[in-house]
Amino acid sequence: MSFEFLTTFPVWQGLLIALGVVVAMEITAYAVHRWVMHGPLGWGWHASHHEPREGMFERNDLYAVVFAFIATGLFMAGALGPVWLWYVGLGTTMYGVLYFIAHDGLVHQRWPFRIVPKGGYMQRLYQAHRLHHAVDGRDGCVSFGFLYAPPIRKLKADLKSKSHLRVRDPDDVPELQVR
Ligand SMILES: [Zn+2]
Ligand SMILES: [Zn+2]
Repeated sequence: MSFEFLTTFPVWQGLLIALGVVVAMEITAYAVHRWVMHGPLGWGWHASHHEPREGMFERNDLYAVVFAFIATGLFMAGALGPVWLWYVGLGTTMYGVLYFIAHDGLVHQRWPFRIVPKGGYMQRLYQAHRLHHAVDGRDGCVSFGFLYAPPIRKLKADLKSKSHLRVRDPDDVPELQVR
């Protein structure tokens, strides 16, 4: 496979496009997570992620497969047609890698080592997603982003205001515990 076609497009512009796509993907992922995955349409796949996982995979992983197909299609379209599409594919892939590190790796421990951020923004991201899992089931969850997290104080206040829901201590959420 030749990457000759990339020389017809300024790399710096391409990287700017990819960076913009990473930002756009976080906004898209937030909206999809909040209104599709936690809605009637997408909960069928996403529910598996809010239950303890048995084995290596969960049905929710199919969302990642869908995005991998989209990224592959963009790479192919960029190789055959407008090159900027290749960089949209690159940005989508970069987002996928960051999503895997932050969500599947740091929070859900789907890699063979354990890193718990002890401070700074990474800790906030980590704690915010644990709070996403502090509510049972589909409704009333907080913090839908994967790379952006609101202040923890705000999320806890949000959860408190939903006193009709059963909110668990994030440390007791079974799907977050390491097996
Ligand atoms: Zn969720
Ligand atoms: Zn999660």
